[in-house]
Amino acid sequence: MRKKELALQIIERLKKAYPDTGCTLDYDDAWKLLVSVRLAAQCTDARVNVVVQDLYKEYPDVAALAAADVEDIERIVKPCGLGHSKARDISACMKILQEKYQGRVPEDFDALLALPGVGRKSANLIMGDVFGKPAVVTDTHCIRLVNRMGLVDGIKEPKKVEMALWKLIPPEESNDFCHRLVDHGREICTARTAPYCGKCCLNDICKKVGVDEKKIK
Ligand code: SF4
Repeated sequence: MRKKELALQIIERLKKAYPDTGCTLDYDDAWKLLVSVRLAAQCTDARVNVVVQDLYKEYPDVAALAAADVEDIERIVKPCGLGHSKARDISACMKILQEKYQGRVPEDFDALLALPGVGRKSANLIMGDVFGKPAVVTDTHCIRLVNRMGLVDGIKEPKKVEMALWKLIPPEESNDFCHRLVDHGREICTARTAPYCGKCCLNDICKKVGVDEKKIK
């Protein structure tokens, strides 16, 4: 099966398996998603969702967070790990939003990418979830799953995976497709245990299963 055709089949099956997908970081304003995405590096979304409540109690808007001491931000966000660098990035990012964008998050991929602590994964997430634009978020689940499924072959570098997926996934499907990869990666195609291929809705089309079966024969 050609990769494009495989991609379309995977999209349709994951849609049925995870109809109500979405971002698992809580936010009610674009700048809050920017903060949460930075905190989520090497931390669970569940923990981030708890920690940001304390942060927003003390600093409820961009202006307040931009004016906060980095040390105080660090004290609050420490439970997410990498406290110092995350606090430094959040502070610098909020200052730029405040000074350059009147406290708003820019609706432009390159402008997002230029913000401290914002990489392609985060910029894509913001473009997709906040602005409803096509977005390919290559997080650890995405990279693991698309390699196993056979949508890419042995590509681990996030930007290269992203570029390969742009060629395979219809733009209007891209954002939810990436969210569904996270759902599937957490539930079935797991990282810390062997994937539960027997329960997987993709096991008749997934490359990994084909390869493993050949190994057994
Ligand atoms: S068949 Fe197995 S390896 Fe392939 S996507 Fe499903 S769980 Fe992952």
